[in-house]
Amino acid sequence: MSWPEVEEIKKQTDVAIIPVGSTEQHGLHLPLKTDAFIAYELAKLAAQKVPVVVTPPIFYGESSHHLDFPGTISINSSTLVSLIKDVAKSLVRHGFKKIIILNAHGGNTHILQTAANEIHQETQAFVALVDWWTIASDEVMKIKTSPIWHACELETSIMLALDLSSVDLSKAVKQIPSALSKFIKYDFAAGEPRARVAWPNVKKVSGSGVIGDPTKASIEKGEKIVNKVVERLVTLITELLAK
Ligand SMILES: [Zn+2]
Repeated sequence: MSWPEVEEIKKQTDVAIIPVGSTEQHGLHLPLKTDAFIAYELAKLAAQKVPVVVTPPIFYGESSHHLDFPGTISINSSTLVSLIKDVAKSLVRHGFKKIIILNAHGGNTHILQTAANEIHQETQAFVALVDWWTIASDEVMKIKTSPIWHACELETSIMLALDLSSVDLSKAVKQIPSALSKFIKYDFAAGEPRARVAWPNVKKVSGSGVIGDPTKASIEKGEKIVNKVVERLVTLITELLAK
């Protein structure tokens, strides 16, 4: 986009999406770009259906728990908070007063909540934090047949649907570590009761880097998930535009 194009779209929308991912290992079968790629593609698909500005993706996240694997690049929590705040403040200055932080990396969620709170307090902008797996969790959880955590059935299915050539399914392995307690669950969808724990150094619990069962992934599942998530994003944006 050029600046006149941004000026033009401002007449139609005051909503902007900041896609946030990571550069981190995703098992033997998925590329390092997986999270940033998913966030950016989902945002762009939503933008095809409803007026919204999509910023370039944030390619780095808090991935210290993956650093034992080559290729992972991690930024610390305070860097991520500062980065998101600076991007958001620029958007607010241009008149985008409703910001959606679209996140694709679980390790970022709690940090982005801090950033969202601070952006709101400092600019009064409306800020929504959306993890792709929670905005359509009711539908997405019907599709999965195995625990979801990392480089798992869901994430692999989405990548098969969005960027088939980047996935080597022949290298996908199932790896689900045993937890230390019944309150600790290697499944985002397992619900409560549960105890939250520090992200484990993934290499210590999974040699492949996978936590989940990517062998259950399929293009069809991926397409369903993408459609549901994009549909919900479009609904969210439409509702925000009406306010
Ligand atoms: Zn991921």
